[in-house]
Amino acid sequence: MMKLGNLAQDRWIEGDGTGKALSNAVTGEPIANITSDGLDFRAMLGHARKVGGANLRKMTFHERGDMLKALAQYLMEQKKQFYALSTATGATRADSWIDIDGGISTLFVFSSKARREMPNDHVYLDGPPEQLSRNGTFIGQHIYTSKLGAAVHINAFNFPVWGMLEKLAPTLAAGVPAIVKPASSTAYLTELVVRRIIESGILPAGSLQLICGGVGDLFDHLNCQDTIAFTGSKTTAEKLQQHPRVVSESVAFTAETDSLNASILGPDAVPGTPEFDLYIKEVVREMTSKAGQKCTAIRRIIAPSSIAAELVEALSTALGQVSVGNPANREVGMGALASLGQRDEVRARVGDLAAEADIVYGGSDKFEVVDADASKGAFFMPTLLHCQKPMRSSAVHSVEAFGPVSTVLPYDTPDEAIELARMGEGSLAGSIITNDDAFAREVVLGTAAYHGRMLVINRHCADESTGHGSPLPHLVHGGPGRAGGGEEMGGVRGIKHYMQRTAIQGSPETLSVIGHRWVRGADEKEPGVHPFRKTFEQLELGDTFRSGLREVSLEDIDHFANFTGDTFYAHMDEEAAEKNPFFEGRVAHGYLIVSFAAGLFVDPDFGPVLANYGIDDLRFVTPLNYGDSMRVRLTCKQKTLRGDSGYGEVRWDTEITNQKDEIVAQYDVLTMVATDAHWASVQ
Ligand code: NAP
Repeated sequence: MMKLGNLAQDRWIEGDGTGKALSNAVTGEPIANITSDGLDFRAMLGHARKVGGANLRKMTFHERGDMLKALAQYLMEQKKQFYALSTATGATRADSWIDIDGGISTLFVFSSKARREMPNDHVYLDGPPEQLSRNGTFIGQHIYTSKLGAAVHINAFNFPVWGMLEKLAPTLAAGVPAIVKPASSTAYLTELVVRRIIESGILPAGSLQLICGGVGDLFDHLNCQDTIAFTGSKTTAEKLQQHPRVVSESVAFTAETDSLNASILGPDAVPGTPEFDLYIKEVVREMTSKAGQKCTAIRRIIAPSSIAAELVEALSTALGQVSVGNPANREVGMGALASLGQRDEVRARVGDLAAEADIVYGGSDKFEVVDADASKGAFFMPTLLHCQKPMRSSAVHSVEAFGPVSTVLPYDTPDEAIELARMGEGSLAGSIITNDDAFAREVVLGTAAYHGRMLVINRHCADESTGHGSPLPHLVHGGPGRAGGGEEMGGVRGIKHYMQRTAIQGSPETLSVIGHRWVRGADEKEPGVHPFRKTFEQLELGDTFRSGLREVSLEDIDHFANFTGDTFYAHMDEEAAEKNPFFEGRVAHGYLIVSFAAGLFVDPDFGPVLANYGIDDLRFVTPLNYGDSMRVRLTCKQKTLRGDSGYGEVRWDTEITNQKDEIVAQYDVLTMVATDAHWASVQ
């Protein structure tokens, strides 16, 4: 029997011995053996730190983003073979789409986040500088830099592709190498994807290693620069979190564990409303997609007691229409569980639940299985339970049957619905299906502290809703308490998990050099030419232009008001303006001031500045009355090269002051500036 490969120190290695046999979830046939015995785990960590980390840290966030995009495109081209093998895990085509396309799209999103929301640099600045001294010569700035260790990813069996890629994307974007350990039962699919990733040659050496099997003594060699990102059961998370080395080295540990996710039906959503129908659809989809093997699936159906009977009937009817069987057959709505062991586990957990709730649909070993041998595959009938007294039950709030199993829990008042949701003691995802936004707010405020993500569905957003159980790369995934207390993804937030935040203190000039962002108070360079005459490469942080004074007259204000139609009383009516606590008579429009500033700082001739694409952080500080004067200072603050596009983004720190040197307005002007090559080509 073929043994799965381990990728250690950039070489594919077979583990020692025969290892554990893995079988096809649908046919029961052997598929591969798995063992990581004999691997040198200490050397793997060393390789990740010395080779992978060093290679990745040479790249900027944008270069890593480009790498993730190239990888995503490459995997897209290969995905047919992933789909073919995914069937062996029991997944239907729709399930595989979540796993495979979902995983690849996570790479795309993180690629875009790294390129659009992070600098083309190695350091990420966390917020603006903090003023720490009276004269501004000593300031603070929080920065993020890549951790110098390895990220150990321990994944669950249910998403062999997405589970790996959703962790890999932010890790690589952060400049950190990964050692991936997939769950054994479906590791063959992860291994195939890793083989393709390595063959692509897109990742630098050392940035990815794979353990198919146990982790041996890996944990004994972790240090404070390493990170563990775990997905799986709460029991395993607790065990690993208490490893002496994890404790003594304060190894960063994030856990995504199980949860008894609740979906609450609003009192308004009675049978006959669109929300009631949406609820049936959502619950059935959550119960049956991936055969219910989703950490985010709806396990607790919290619904008004007045309609519980109708709800049970509607859910049972809808579940009856889901055909179970061979996931390769397009007619089949639900495939198999990932293994026979998993099927036995779910069966046992349904037994626990049945001590407190009645099985109202399913729960039987005798059901029709389409196009497969029911005695060989890990098939399980969708099973619905109804608990009459959920406030006095405990199993329904604590036992996770990781399969197509869910329990109806009736409530009488909104407070009771909230209390029931909280009894899950921390969940990854919760949902509220209602067209009553006041009810939605009450429930969200009452339960958000127990959830990592909540979605509210009504007739207005249902068509475009991504659904209760779909974690998205843009949003955080994780949850408090039983859900593990961790957090992953969430765009740039997820990248920061693999970086260290450090508060840096020093002079504005020092911090400008360290962070590659000019800070007020740092040196201002007055180049011989207007900075708009300089190309992207020629511009230096601190390059400054200072304009002369321009008076703002009453005629200017009248002209601007009539021209734009902005005849707000503060600009037009002396008496009314005086009654306003902020003004002493008619004042210039803020936008007039900004427009005059542009007139003062632009260099009008054809030059390397290509366009102005916006303004950030605009604040009007001191009003400008007619008769006052204004001048502007424009300083090159930050430069971001846009790959090979021929231009880069330049951010200009802009300050308008009056004749008394009081600050009138502050903002950042955003421009695109041609590179040397582009500028030379158009002259
Ligand atoms: P599990 O038994 O806890 O296993 C999870 C991972 O931990 C597997 O890779 C497993 O490897 C590994 N593992 C187990 N013991 C270990 C040890 N002593 N040292 C190092 N690694 C060890 O969980 P599971 O049964 O595979 O997964 C199902 C559970 O995961 C469910 O409870 C589900 O709710 C949860 N889950 C959570 C999320 C989430 O995002 N929160 C997502 C999916 C699943 P082996 O397979 O080789 O034992």
